[in-house]
Formats: sequence, structure tokens, C-alpha cells
Amino acid sequence: MKDHIAPEVNKDGFHCPHCGIYALQLWDNLSTQKGSGGAGRTRILDGKIGYCTQCKDYTLWVGEQMVYPSASSAPKPSEDMPEDVKQDFNEARQIVDDSPKAAAALLRLAMEKLTQDLTGKEGQSLYQNIGDLVDDGQIDERVQQALDSVRVTGNDYVHAGEIYNPDDREVALRLFELVNIIVELTITREKLIEEAYSDIPENKKKGIEQRDN
Ligand SMILES: [Zn+2]
Repeated sequence: MKDHIAPEVNKDGFHCPHCGIYALQLWDNLSTQKGSGGAGRTRILDGKIGYCTQCKDYTLWVGEQMVYPSASSAPKPSEDMPEDVKQDFNEARQIVDDSPKAAAALLRLAMEKLTQDLTGKEGQSLYQNIGDLVDDGQIDERVQQALDSVRVTGNDYVHAGEIYNPDDREVALRLFELVNIIVELTITREKLIEEAYSDIPENKKKGIEQRDN
């Protein structure tokens, strides 16, 4: 995996906080305009706006500080994460610092979608899906234990009116990691195996298939 280049003001390129891709950035000064028309006076402010050449979205800076989008302490989604799961994941990243409990609920939803895609079974609980993936040998039993430890597979994870618990943040952060781990153990691993197999010359593949038959 490529190194992650964190956003920095005036830098030629970095991993964009919107699209997550390493992309060249274009910069403009922030300024105010006094008066109107040609008589207006422009004042340059201590701020910058950066445009991502990849997704065309922008970052906003005051001094050295990126103020938009607000930085998240949560990890980025794994590259191979399915798009619908990634949406929930990224939404959770945006709210985790203000509301770790809401972020955890979103991540649980993301995990439900992900494991349902992987098992291809509808209407099962997250607990059953994870169990199936362990039985299939797709994910490690330790992942299941880690999920149990943060009570994510329990039905009573989100109680209405529960008091804020300082551990919630830690639980949410661990859930981000676990969603990424499940993607890497299943989708990324499968992709790597497919790639390795497609590199085998055709005549050798035939030999392998004949051996297996
Ligand atoms: Zn971008």
C-alpha cells in the first residue's frame, strides 16, 4: 500500500480528505472585497482554499489549520470497501468526534451490509452472518471475539436514553478498524489470490485444473 500523505497547506499534492486519492492540489488565497465594482479594495486573508484535481472538491485553511472538512481521528476506509458500506463508514468518520455512539450505530449498519454481501444470505442477524463467515474460514475467530467484546453483535447495542460513556469513543474507533479488517480478510485477500492466479500461464493453469479433477 502507498504511504498516506496527510493534507498540508500549499502542498502540491496529498491524499484528499474527500476522495481519499493522492491528488494534485491547486491553491487560491482567501480574500475579502470592500466596496463594489472597480472601486473595490481586495484584502488578502490568512487563509487558503485548495482544490482537489481529482474530485474537484475543496479544502479550507486558516493559517496552517485545515478547517474544512473537519479532520477525523478515525481511520480511512480500506480501498476495497464496497461503495454502499464506504458511505456509512465515511459518515461515521465525520460524526465520531461529536457523537461516538451515533458513529458506532452507523458502523454496525455498515457491518450488516458488508457481511450480508459476503454471505449472500438475507434476513440474517449480524451475529449469524459473522458466524457463517467464521465457519467458511473467511474470517478469523478472533475477529468474532473482538466484535463480541465491543458488544456489536448483541441486539441491545444501542439503548435509547443511555448515558454517554467515555468508552464509547474507544468502542467506535475499534469498530472502524474491525470493518477494515473484515474487508481486508475477505475482499482484499480474494482479489490478491485472483491476481496471483491470473498471472499463472494458461498451459500451467490447465495442468492445475487437470490435477484437481
Ligand atoms: Zn479529492
